[in-house]
Formats: sequence, structure tokens, C-alpha cells
Amino acid sequence: MEMFKRTGKIAGTGAIVDVHVANGVIASVEPSAGTPEGEVPWISPGWIDLQVNGYAGFDFNAQPVETKDVLGVTERMNRYGVTSYLPTVITGSFERIKQAVGQIGRVCDEYESAAASIAGIHVEGPYLSGEDGPRGAHPREHIREPDYEEWRQLQKESGNRIKMITVAPEREGMADFVKRLAEEGIAVCIGHTAASPDQLDAAVEAGAVLSTHLGNGSHPVLARHPNYIWHQLGDDRLWASFIPDGHHLAPAVLKSMVRAKRDRFVFVTDCVALGGMPPGTYRSLVGGEVEVHANGRLSTAHNPNILAGSGVTMPECVANGIRLAGLSMKETIEAVTERPAQVLGRMDLGRLVPGAAADITLFRTDRDGNVAVVETIVKGKTAYVE
Ligand SMILES: [Zn+2]
Repeated sequence: MEMFKRTGKIAGTGAIVDVHVANGVIASVEPSAGTPEGEVPWISPGWIDLQVNGYAGFDFNAQPVETKDVLGVTERMNRYGVTSYLPTVITGSFERIKQAVGQIGRVCDEYESAAASIAGIHVEGPYLSGEDGPRGAHPREHIREPDYEEWRQLQKESGNRIKMITVAPEREGMADFVKRLAEEGIAVCIGHTAASPDQLDAAVEAGAVLSTHLGNGSHPVLARHPNYIWHQLGDDRLWASFIPDGHHLAPAVLKSMVRAKRDRFVFVTDCVALGGMPPGTYRSLVGGEVEVHANGRLSTAHNPNILAGSGVTMPECVANGIRLAGLSMKETIEAVTERPAQVLGRMDLGRLVPGAAADITLFRTDRDGNVAVVETIVKGKTAYVE
């Protein structure tokens, strides 16, 4: 039986605790015995990211997706404190999506590190709005109406690993499609949409649970109200995910939106393969030409107002929740731990309680509010240590 403990300050209360781990599971959390020496790191449930397209050149939308893409992103996520994430495959041809979800599934079957960190696959598309603005960087030629038979084939190919899908409610027959997937236990999300309030309501009533990167994937200019952003923001039945990188939502917008959603929001990075790359113009296999700006912003090269995913990391998201959105440490951590676990229906994740998976992130903060990961433990194994 493999046992160890970690000592840290609970992110939120600051209470110093010993977290005991046995066989990959949290055995107990107790007030720390004795006075620890030196700086005590913050201790938090492992961080969860519901939307990861790639990072540092590794890409879930590569053609084809290779083993190194899955392992490379997993390693980077662990380095940034993420213990569970959803590889995100965006709009493309049936063959491309099928290859990607199939490959991710096969790597999970073969490699323990991938299986330990990949909590499922997020398919963002292809049943989205085809309008410029709402469709963001999703290729227009592959956007289409919902097709349940296609969905079944993709789900089968993934080994039933698709746990989340983002759809546009205005697509033909979408309410029925949402209902069937919700009944299968899929977290159906609303995004890249120009839906009317009635269409949004129909999707929520059919079982949609979350607004994907609310405030993005929308028209650059919009009727001030009502519109599809306000309508989702005001619906307490819907969770919302936000990208707190300082670019996708201006700080005042992020702050206003988190306050409107209260405890019904999560943070995602929505990071892409070009995240972490030097400034310049890159040819992306999907999304065309993408420009990496000096400040880390990623946009389509032809229109700098259309964002093409983000280059933000989870420690920056945690820091920005406090710095930009005015959250407490407790709230910003909840937005990357127990809330995304709840969205996935995974009560074994996102909490430091006996019986939960031993997914633990230890980190420290500096005077400027920067967050740095000290150690990442995934299912009881150290996956990263600084
Ligand atoms: Zn998107």
C-alpha cells in the first residue's frame, strides 16, 4: 500500500493541513501536526480544465492527431497544475473528428498518464452557427446540422469518451438532439451561436447545462439588449465557462459576468497548439492563418478582432480570477476544481475529501499575485514537481 502526505494551506481558509494519500485516493485531511518548516504552499484539489485544444505545438486538431499530441498536452497540463482536462476537438470533416477522438481514446487505453488526466473529450462543433462572428475560427465548410447517426459513430470511435459537446441551439432539430445526448449523460453546452431567446430556452429545457466561453464566439457588434449573451448570463439554470486571459473578456466584463453568474461559472483556458509559442503568423491546420501577438493574444490573421483560442495557462487563470475578476482565493479555486467536477458529474474529482481521487495541486503566490505550481499529483502520483 503506497502512502504519503502533503502539507499545505487550504486555498480559501489558509488553515494548514496534512492531506494523507493511500493507493491513489485521499485517505484523510487533518489539521497539520507540528509547525512546518519554511514556506508552506497552498494546497488545492487538482485543477480541472474543460476546454483544451492543444499547447506548445501539440494539437488535438492536428491532421492526424498523433500519440505525441495527446502525451505532450497531458504533460504540459500537469506542469500547469491541471490534473483532469478535456481534450477539445473542434469542427471538421467527419473523418477528421473521428480520427482525433479515436486516437485520443487509443492513447488513453495505452498510456496510464493520459488515462489518469483525461476525464473525457469535448467536441466543440460541428453543429454550430455558420455566421461570421459566432462561428469564431471554426471552418465554415464543415459546419452542419445535427446528425445523431454521425454522433453515435464518433462516440463509438472514442470508446464512449466524449463527455461534452458544444452546439448552437438554432440548428435544425437541435432541441431533440440535445435531449437525446443529455439522456446519455453528455454535458451539452451552448456556444458559437446566434440563437434567439426562445431557441436558447428550448435548448436549456432539453437539458443543455453550460454556456461555452460565454461572451466569445459572438458577433463583434450586437443589439445592446436583449441578445444571446444577456439571455444566457441571466439564466441561473446554465453554468458558464469563461476564459480569464484578459483578452477574451476585458477585465470589467469578466468581473461583471462572474458577479452575474455568482457560483455558476467555471474557468477554462481554451488554450490552443500555438499557446506558448513566440509571436508571429502561423499557418494553423484548422482556422487558417493565426497571429500570435506579443501580449499572448491569438487572433485570425485577417481580422485581429476574431480571437483564435488562447495561450493562457491555468495558473494565470487562477491569478486573474483574483486580479481581474475580484474573486477571493476560495472562489477562483472553486471555479477550477469542484465546479467543473460538478459540471461533469464527477463527485470523485475537484474536492479534498476522504475517498476522492488523490488529485492535488500545490502552488505558491507572490507579492504581485502571480501563481506558480509547486507540485501536481495525479491519482496519487507526482506528475510534476518544480
Ligand atoms: Zn470556441
